[in-house]
Amino acid sequence: MTIEGLLIGGDRVPAASGQQSQLIDPATGETWATVAAGGVEDIDRAVLAAENARAGWRKVNSRDRARMLFTLANLIRTNLESLAQLESRNAGKPIRDARDEVNMAADCFEYYAGAINKVGGQTIPVAAAGTHLTFREPIGVCGMIAPWNFPIAITSWKVAPALAMGNTIVLKPASQTPLTALRLGELALEAGVPPGVFNVVPGAGSTAGDALVRHPLVRKISFTGSTEIGTQVMKLAADDIKNVTLELGGKSANLIFADADLDKAVVKSLWSVLGNSGQDCCARSRILVERPLYDTFLSQLTEQFQALKIGHPSEEQTEIGPLISTGHRDRVHRYIDIGKAEGAKLLCGGDIPTGALANGAYLQPAIFADATPEMQIVREEIFGPVVCVLPFDTEEEAVAIANNSLYGLSGSIWTRDISRALRVARAIETGVLSINTGHSVHLEAPFGGVKRSGLGRELGLAVLDHYSEWKSVFIAE
Ligand code: NAP
Repeated sequence: MTIEGLLIGGDRVPAASGQQSQLIDPATGETWATVAAGGVEDIDRAVLAAENARAGWRKVNSRDRARMLFTLANLIRTNLESLAQLESRNAGKPIRDARDEVNMAADCFEYYAGAINKVGGQTIPVAAAGTHLTFREPIGVCGMIAPWNFPIAITSWKVAPALAMGNTIVLKPASQTPLTALRLGELALEAGVPPGVFNVVPGAGSTAGDALVRHPLVRKISFTGSTEIGTQVMKLAADDIKNVTLELGGKSANLIFADADLDKAVVKSLWSVLGNSGQDCCARSRILVERPLYDTFLSQLTEQFQALKIGHPSEEQTEIGPLISTGHRDRVHRYIDIGKAEGAKLLCGGDIPTGALANGAYLQPAIFADATPEMQIVREEIFGPVVCVLPFDTEEEAVAIANNSLYGLSGSIWTRDISRALRVARAIETGVLSINTGHSVHLEAPFGGVKRSGLGRELGLAVLDHYSEWKSVFIAE
């Protein structure tokens, strides 16, 4: 078994401590890869490499920088199948979904490559004799911390705009899913991005991640992960006033009014919670259904849950793969007991499969009906294939239930009444929302949460403000 080294200053190297960690295949429970486990010393080396590469990278002119990112996008597409296979095996992701995510990563590099020479400063008509200019300058070394649920997609959301704005990077991928990030770093070198500009240091969050957030030469932290760790990151980053972006947890609501297109609402609601086996920060895991539609909606949803093809991620027909690990699956499974004890009605699923799937981290997708807003299963992010369905009687009640959450990331509204759709969309406290569909993430539009779901935005042109500083220069006449 080859040992995957860290990527520091353009070289694949072992961890300074010599430590390694084993990757477990979520579909089988087998150990299948070994990765160097970076620590404090490795983070320091990587940050110094990024600091030393900073001056050279910001001098690369905009057209050349764009060309490199376009080349990187092309390389991602050329290697699409091998990257998708790697991601599928590493994260237990159905292969068709893994291909979509690798494509999204390529699209992301193309989008920001195209943006590079279209964003700039301004001349501002100030109340003084002279000319006021603004420049958009790189922030410097950016520390990035990624989760395991959409490894290459979320990494690209951070890396592409940061490179576009002339920053250098040290990325710490999630311990469980470091492989596509390492490969992306190698492809960036192949695309001509100079050594040291983009470094990748797999390692434990409590050591490598912590060291990255504390490092005095890191000027920006972009974190995606749980609200619990995001809170710690924000506190630590405050010590030297680092610029911080946080993309955190969610418990989003899906409001289905009685005039909705029922067939469409059922199938899209299913995928807006079960995509990636429910391990999605945007999962609309609280479905609120207007009372006249409630029973019909539940019976159709249950029928579709029971028809899902659960299986090995490498099989083309697989719709639902394993969760990331048996440890995480067991954590999710505990919510099945909690929901039952709280009095919610388990309509289907919630079992750990036996037979051919027994060694993997699988869980049968579950529906809880007759849930109520105060239940733990309705308040907490479960991050697995479990949905809670609640009835409502009025629009005001639906909005109140939707907003009765510490989170505010995503959500959906289903109705044929456009005035109501817009009124409810304005009333819901969330960062991202879809009307009559279950999908609202587009590379070209800002993405992020309110309340405990995060701070700042990723994607769109909005993220460029999070990877640059405005500098104001006034020239007297
Ligand atoms: P997590 O446990 O918070 O881990 C996220 C990352 O932080 C990992 O790389 C982790 O390293 C690292 N980390 C852990 N402790 C750290 C510390 N003390 N200092 C610095 N870094 C540390 O989250 P997860 O379980 O990977 O991901 C699931 C969570 O992410 C869910 O809550 C989900 O909603 C959220 N999420 C949000 C978005 C969004 O855009 N809003 C997108 C995806 C996921 P290790 O891997 O070594 O633990």
